[in-house]
Amino acid sequence: MSRVFNFSAGPTVLPVSVLEKAQSELVEYKNAGMSVMEMSHRSADYQGIIDQATSDLRDIMNISDEYEVLFLQGGASTQFAMVPLNLLKTSGEVDLIHTGAWTKRAIAEIKKYGKVNIVASSEDKNYTYLPTWDKKNFSKNAAYFHIATNNTIYGTRFTTLPDTGQVPLVGDMSSNILSEVYDVNKFGIIYAGAQKNMGPSGVTVVIIRKDLIGHAMDITPTMLDYKTHADKGSMYNTPPTYGIYMCGLVYEWVREQGGVKEVQKANEAKAKLLYDFLDESDLFSGTVVKQDRSLMNIPFVTGNDEIDAKFIKETRESGLVNLKGHRSVGGMRASMYNALPYEGTKALVDFMKNFESKNN
Ligand SMILES: *Cc1c(COP(=O)(O)O)cnc(C)c1O
Repeated sequence: MSRVFNFSAGPTVLPVSVLEKAQSELVEYKNAGMSVMEMSHRSADYQGIIDQATSDLRDIMNISDEYEVLFLQGGASTQFAMVPLNLLKTSGEVDLIHTGAWTKRAIAEIKKYGKVNIVASSEDKNYTYLPTWDKKNFSKNAAYFHIATNNTIYGTRFTTLPDTGQVPLVGDMSSNILSEVYDVNKFGIIYAGAQKNMGPSGVTVVIIRKDLIGHAMDITPTMLDYKTHADKGSMYNTPPTYGIYMCGLVYEWVREQGGVKEVQKANEAKAKLLYDFLDESDLFSGTVVKQDRSLMNIPFVTGNDEIDAKFIKETRESGLVNLKGHRSVGGMRASMYNALPYEGTKALVDFMKNFESKNN
């Protein structure tokens, strides 16, 4: 077996020990006589799996009883519509900090049901920084305040959260959930597609303060009402059973690492290694202003398309894959999620040093 170092933005690398555990339980889960994929979601075995996953996530993120944990489908992209459908009944207004392609998608959905007040934006510089905000621009009667805590495409992140007072903060945490410690109590809703830091695609985790459930607009489809899923423990209909099982294994893995705090330290070490090199390199440079740099997604360029293409080709041949940048930024992007080992970043930086000495 020869596994590559996978720098994909998502779906992406999972811990090998998780894959091996899943493999060992693939044909027969414990003494169930069948695979998790073949189980009824109404069975006692499956109830045990989803309950364990829920309590492990509560544990590693320190989620209080004031919050509901839901395992849904439709990706983070469905949440762009689900949040306004559930929260815009009384006030038709949303405050939002616009930091890239994913907040743009959120804006488009919110506009179908209400008004968006863009409090701050970094669109003027192709989202290469995190804009500062002035509380004077917050709406007094906003139904909620939307941010993307980490910007997967552009490589920026929030290092401090806006203080929204009584207005619920809604965080699209798709690309940095479980990568650094967050105080869940600062949010009304957190959501994330699983495929970046939690498991395979097909599962969306929603952490929602209980008082925000049960106020959906009348037009809301049953499946897009948080209450539907909260009332039935995410089992109103068939949930993505195998994906939730895999997420559960990843939560267990996070705990084995020493929790999110330790995972964060490992992520900081990986990010530092690459950023320090980018800062001293004469060939490569990062695209994001220093203080707003993401720990998860690191875009960088040489400024020469031919050299970029050569770099991507040669890295791929050396087992460092999925380094091509997003088309809206160009160049390269190294996504270094929780499960990417330090050795992966080390191998990339060593490769870059060597490449620079030959191509500069
Ligand atoms: C990947 C991503 C999304 C889209 O997630 P899907 O699960 O594909 O819908 C949304 N927001 C952010 C910040 C992302 O990184």
